[in-house]
Amino acid sequence: MTQIETDFVVVGSGIAGLMTALSLQESGDVLVISKARYEESNSFRAQGGIAAAIGEGDSPELHREDTLRTGVDLCDPTSVEVMVHMAPRTIQLLAEWGTPFDQTNGHYSLGREGSHSVSRILHVAGDQTGAGITASLLERAKQSDQIDLITHTMVADLLIEQGQCRGVKTFDLKGKPTIILARKGVVLATGGCGQLYRYTTNDLVVTGDGFAMAHRAGAALTDMEFVQFHPTALAVEQNPMFLISEAVRGDGAILVNDHEEAFMEKYHEWKDLAPRDVVSRAIYRETQAGRQVFLDATQIQANFSDRFPKIFRECLKHGIDPRKDLIPVTPAAHFIMGGIRTDLEGQTTVPRLFACGEVACTGVHGANRLASNSLLEGAVFAQRVANKLASLSPQKSDLLTFDYPDLCMDKQKEETWKAQIREIMWNHAGIVRTLSSLLAGLKQLKQLEEEIPLGFIECHNMLTTAQIMIKSACWRQESRGGHYRFDYPETVTEWSRKHYVI
Ligand SMILES: Cc1cc2nc3c(=O)[nH]c(=O)nc-3n(C[C@H](O)[C@H](O)[C@H](O)COP(=O)(O)OP(=O)(O)OC[C@H]3O[C@@H](n4cnc5c(N)ncnc54)[C@H](O)[C@@H]3O)c2cc1C
Repeated sequence: MTQIETDFVVVGSGIAGLMTALSLQESGDVLVISKARYEESNSFRAQGGIAAAIGEGDSPELHREDTLRTGVDLCDPTSVEVMVHMAPRTIQLLAEWGTPFDQTNGHYSLGREGSHSVSRILHVAGDQTGAGITASLLERAKQSDQIDLITHTMVADLLIEQGQCRGVKTFDLKGKPTIILARKGVVLATGGCGQLYRYTTNDLVVTGDGFAMAHRAGAALTDMEFVQFHPTALAVEQNPMFLISEAVRGDGAILVNDHEEAFMEKYHEWKDLAPRDVVSRAIYRETQAGRQVFLDATQIQANFSDRFPKIFRECLKHGIDPRKDLIPVTPAAHFIMGGIRTDLEGQTTVPRLFACGEVACTGVHGANRLASNSLLEGAVFAQRVANKLASLSPQKSDLLTFDYPDLCMDKQKEETWKAQIREIMWNHAGIVRTLSSLLAGLKQLKQLEEEIPLGFIECHNMLTTAQIMIKSACWRQESRGGHYRFDYPETVTEWSRKHYVI
């Protein structure tokens, strides 16, 4: 088997992976590995923007308060403090590294999104913030002599020896295995797990691999019951589903049902800009009552096609003109607040294994994520991971043996099983949960686990991550943020600050 060696291995080329690599380049050789094309990441898909307290009348303290309130008493206040204070400097760094943030009259244009008390969302080309940021970072990474980037290569597992992470095992598109040793450490920046759900806004590559690999390596995961369902995916059957950014509601669009009722008034005082879990459940209740739900953007002040060019084009593709038609919407799995538990430097509980971005749980999101805080989290904590990693001394590398099964390449079977997992999670661990339904889902996942050969690595990663999520959801006997239990509908003070760690 081919074996190569480098100083740092970074798994993932979204905002977290690229920022880590660029922040590490002065400290040694970095290899960035991604499963598919660079454009295939959630970072590339991000629309609305990235939050930072840089506007007049705003402050890191206000940003902190909004983040803590949205996280419903479950955020780690120290992590939040770090993130909101590093935010303005991080925006400056991104701009220096080439991100062309939108400006008005020489100042950054700042949008407003749900649960933010002021306008603090920076964006690029209106609704193409993620693509704008990742394209600039990628360009810079490609120019670096210290950074090697490889695509279409799947990291199958972590190499653990004497309790330390020594590297990774990969498969290329043809199923050829390679061992990659990391002299200083490995960073998981593999994103979330939206593809575990039938309806999701997440890219096809986002199958929860990082959580499963970390779990197999013995790392602690936490808060895995908290999934954010975005209320407004375009209700057209496709995978992934297209997101109608919250910024559209921020600019004045409202949710209506097929009785032309602006129903959010019934559910929350903040109406259409209520927290995402509240809006998603409101839509769920409307649809359970047999109604259809739409976004009415016909009255927004801004010129829709200028402000939201990508959303405009996608709607037109499906015969919907947002300037005069109602846009059909549905909630879809969007983001996971939990993840691999890390400290403020991204260190996991396994030495020399680091995590940042959506796969990590730094504690900044608590039970619910404030809109536009996740690009920020990835960019901030990537810099801290790099700082810490650079300070480590190199470890001795030997030839390692590794017994992972060969990769199974039968795409048709794989897709069938993936669809089954996604259906189970949507039906049993979705927007509204009960113990009996969660347990029924768990049973079905276990049956599939026995049926599917181990070489279907993505399927097994999905199954491992899904079971951790369900066990966590069974444990939390209350409702909070992104976790809603029909059998325990109240938020209970005694559960504040309690975390389930697997
Ligand atoms: C449609 C959409 C819109 C969003 N809008 C916003 C927004 O406006 N603001 C905001 O803050 N957040 C937004 N989010 C959330 C945000 O985009 C993500 O949380 C964030 O981009 C995650 O970044 P990441 O670097 O951690 O992971 P990702 O960007 O998802 O990247 C994951 C990387 O890991 C690689 N990978 C995964 N598994 C493996 C493996 N086994 N082997 C090799 N490589 C692997 C993938 O190939 C990919 O390169 C949005 C999300 C979506 C889906």
